Amino acid sequence: MNRWTVGDVSIHRVEETQLPAEIGQWLLPNVDPQSISVNGHQTRTGGIASGTHSFAMTSQGRKIVVDTGIGNAKTRDNPAWDHLQTPYIERLTAAGFAPETVDLVLLTHLHADHVGWNTTWSDGEWVPTFSRATYVMSHAEREYWSTTDVEVARAVMIDDSVKPLEKRDMLSTPRIPPAGLDITSEVRLIPTPGHTPGHLSVLIHSEGQQAIISGDALHHSIQLEHPEINASVDINADQAASTRFKLLTWAAEEQILLLGSHFPAPSGGYVRAEGKKFHFDPRG
Ligand SMILES: [Zn+2]
Repeated sequence: MNRWTVGDVSIHRVEETQLPAEIGQWLLPNVDPQSISVNGHQTRTGGIASGTHSFAMTSQGRKIVVDTGIGNAKTRDNPAWDHLQTPYIERLTAAGFAPETVDLVLLTHLHADHVGWNTTWSDGEWVPTFSRATYVMSHAEREYWSTTDVEVARAVMIDDSVKPLEKRDMLSTPRIPPAGLDITSEVRLIPTPGHTPGHLSVLIHSEGQQAIISGDALHHSIQLEHPEINASVDINADQAASTRFKLLTWAAEEQILLLGSHFPAPSGGYVRAEGKKFHFDPRG
C-alpha cells in the first residue's frame, strides 16, 4: 500500500488487483509495449502494466473513498472483471476505512472498473457496501448513461452497482461548474470530460500542497510522454486528448502530485513539462 501526505490530508492507495497485460494492450492499442521499457517506469515484462485501486483519505473528519474498482462476484463480459475475488475490503479496513465508517464515495465516472464495490451481494441482492455513505457522481455522467442506449452488459452493471444506491436515495448527482465543486475545503471535484462526458478528477489541496486523482483522464504514464495517445475506451477522443494535455500542464505548472487511477504501484508522482511532452517522476 502507498501513502502520500498533502498538507493535513493523508491519501492511501488501496489496491484491488493488478490487471493482465492484455488489458493494457486493449486500453492503449496504439502503444508498442517495447517502447515502455525505455520509459523507465511501470514496466512489466510482456506488456503494459495496469491495475485497479481506490484512493482513501480523511478530510476534516470525513472519510472519503475515491472510486470503487471492479468488485467481487460481479457478472461481466470482460474476463478480467468477471466474478473477481479479491481481499479489497480487508485492505480498505486495514488502511482505516472500514466500509461502514466511510462518509463519502466519490466516483470519477460510471465504468465497470470504477463502481464495482459500490455494492456487495448479501441475502440475495446487491446492497450498498458503504452502508452510511453518500455516493457522488456528476449529474452529466448519470444523465449520459440514462439517456444513451446501452448494451446489455452495461445495463447489468448499472443495475447491480448504481440502481441499488438510487433505490435507497444514497446517490447524489450534483452539477459540477467548470471551476469545480468543493466537497470539503480540501477536496474539490474537477470536470475532466472526454473519457466520458461527465468524468471528474479529484483535487486535494491543503497547506499549500496539492494532489489530483486523475481517474481515466490518463490510463498509463506513457501518456505523459505521448499525451496525444488516447485510450480505446475514450468516448470523445479529441476532448479526452485536450483534457489530458490541460491536466498535465496544470500539474506541471503547480507541482501537483498526480495520482493515476490505473497506474501500477506506486501510482503517484510529479509531472515535469518537456516541450509538448511530460516526464513522470514517481513518488510513493
Ligand atoms: Zn478505468
